[in-house]
Amino acid sequence: MKEYILSGARVYLGGTFHRADVHVQNGRFAAIAKNLAVPAGVPVISCTSYYIFPGLTDVHVHLREPGFSYKATVKSETAAAARGGYTTVCAMPNLKPAPDAPETLEAELSVIRRDASVHVLPYGTITAGRAGEKLSDMEGLAPLVFGYSDDGSGVQSESLMEEALRRAKALRKPVCAHCEVGSPDGAIHDGEYAAAHGIPGISSESEWEMIRRDIELVRRTGAQYHVCHISTKESVAIIREAKREGLPVTCETAPHYLVFTDASLKDDGAFRMNPPIRAERDREALIESILDGTIDMIATDHAPHSAEEKSGGLRSSVMGVVGLETALSVMYTEFVRPGLITKRRLMALLHDNAKRIFGIGTDIEVGAPADFTVFDPNPLAPVNTADFRSAGKSSPFAGRGVFGRVMLTAVEGDIVWSETDFVPKSML
Ligand SMILES: [Zn+2]
Repeated sequence: MKEYILSGARVYLGGTFHRADVHVQNGRFAAIAKNLAVPAGVPVISCTSYYIFPGLTDVHVHLREPGFSYKATVKSETAAAARGGYTTVCAMPNLKPAPDAPETLEAELSVIRRDASVHVLPYGTITAGRAGEKLSDMEGLAPLVFGYSDDGSGVQSESLMEEALRRAKALRKPVCAHCEVGSPDGAIHDGEYAAAHGIPGISSESEWEMIRRDIELVRRTGAQYHVCHISTKESVAIIREAKREGLPVTCETAPHYLVFTDASLKDDGAFRMNPPIRAERDREALIESILDGTIDMIATDHAPHSAEEKSGGLRSSVMGVVGLETALSVMYTEFVRPGLITKRRLMALLHDNAKRIFGIGTDIEVGAPADFTVFDPNPLAPVNTADFRSAGKSSPFAGRGVFGRVMLTAVEGDIVWSETDFVPKSML
């Protein structure tokens, strides 16, 4: 059913919240105003205690197909995105085959066309096979991909990265870099917890040294460069300086780096990811940088794995945790409710900046595709991973009390997620 009215919500319109009714028809916002007349037969969903946000955007997710459907599928993970309030996600290329040319990308695109319930924009790899040795078919991929990334590993060769940035610049596409010198030989942050428990650590330098190298390459090439999942205090300082200089550099972090430190680690695979949860000084710097705008986006680095792969504790679980179904509530609970950031800033981090910087996602305005989410900010409940639609259940937020839940998410007017009994069955 593509026609309905959402009544009385606080709606995010052009940067501020307004109390309004929203009429959705033929996949678009047909009217947004106070006290809309209800045409005969059109269902009305009462939203007076809720917000309507634009459908959220996550520039960093792992959907696992093709190649790793034992972990998760495009179907399960886009369902998770919808439950989390997301309508646009950018899919990282850690796949088999890795999307390094139009032919290998087609395997991914065909699954997306068949099974995705939200908009999925794929990344192409920077290097062939994501192996770091020669560049992918960047020109062939360009019309089909959001941007380029070798997420999971840094491009070790400086000359190869410089060439990638030159070509991406000519193609007007961003390079989104996982910055890491070498390959991860540690398990967690190289800090107090690692030392106390005799667990091999991952240094902060391994991240920020590559960011510093790449920013020099951006200075030379002028390419649009986005740093994935920054986790250290030094990374923040380097990026802040690059932005002051006017370089086309942006970055993201993820909720777990803003909430946890290595003092809060438990010997549980749900706390193992790369980059790792860092020290308190890093967390403080990251929070400061979501306040001053150095960090442009909150991404989740949503990375589902099988239960077995996550069962090895901190020492031997595989890297990566899920995040799509907790990010909004966690950010709302930890930062908006205590007054650290405004709801408008939350929207910037979860939607507006991705639109401004990358031109992706949709605003709520008459005539635009009806991509949106209805958020109830009130209920307090522990995160229950059994409720996840994601096939991955490993979350550091498991059991943590959070405020808010997504009542409904729509993509081009189609309801792709709704809480039980929130809308009449006839509408689903
Ligand atoms: Zn990464």
